[in-house]
Amino acid sequence: MTSGTIFSIEEFAVHDGPGIRTAVFLKGCPLRCTWCHNPEGQRFGSELMVKKGETSICGTEYAAEDLAAKLLRNEAIFRMNSGGVTFTGGEPLAQGDFLIAVLEQLKGRIHTAIETSGFAPVETFREVLGKLDLVMMDIKLVDQERHRHWTGVSNAIILRNLETLIGSGKPFIIRIPLIPGVNDDEANLEATAALLEGAAGLQRVEFLPYHKTAGAKYPMVGRSYNPGFDTQIPSRLDTEPFDKRNITTMIL
Ligand code: SF4
Repeated sequence: MTSGTIFSIEEFAVHDGPGIRTAVFLKGCPLRCTWCHNPEGQRFGSELMVKKGETSICGTEYAAEDLAAKLLRNEAIFRMNSGGVTFTGGEPLAQGDFLIAVLEQLKGRIHTAIETSGFAPVETFREVLGKLDLVMMDIKLVDQERHRHWTGVSNAIILRNLETLIGSGKPFIIRIPLIPGVNDDEANLEATAALLEGAAGLQRVEFLPYHKTAGAKYPMVGRSYNPGFDTQIPSRLDTEPFDKRNITTMIL
């Protein structure tokens, strides 16, 4: 029996893919983006969380069969409004076997999507790709050293998985968190747009401007928020590199 750790299941989510969706947050992420607004999703396994003076356990273990059965209970609702289930996190691909086991039980019955950093072994990425309907993937920084500095990992495998995604023809959305002074410069946006030019499955690029409340949850998991950039400067919004390549953009 394959099991995995989930830190939240949110029903009636509307910003995580088409229609009304259930968002499943898988716990654990190999990245450490300094702007991450879900610090409780970074560590693998359960941990204590203190919210408004109350201590709770963040992270629940589910068997793949049990999670699939829970999600399938809303199958009729998803069909009625062209919604479905989105796996997010944390990094859902970091629990690849669990995710694959759940997706196998949902395939053909519920529209499935994933929100991912793209940081995963190529075999896992390929296998998951074949089992879901829509990929929402972050591209944060194209320069490898800057990516390592701000997220803690190289982007080499992410860019390789992006190539696989583009080559697959699978529908996908690229999300760019716009972090002031980190990745909102013209050179990075130009390089990102160039990677996506002509990609047949690309539906659009979504920009997520940095939000000042990103650090709010760190104290709840016993950590301090030190993002390393000036959080008071607004993100620079520049769609021109995408516009000139006829790539649709949206600001979330
Ligand atoms: S990839 Fe997402 S979940 Fe992981 S650290 Fe970065 S922002 Fe947080």
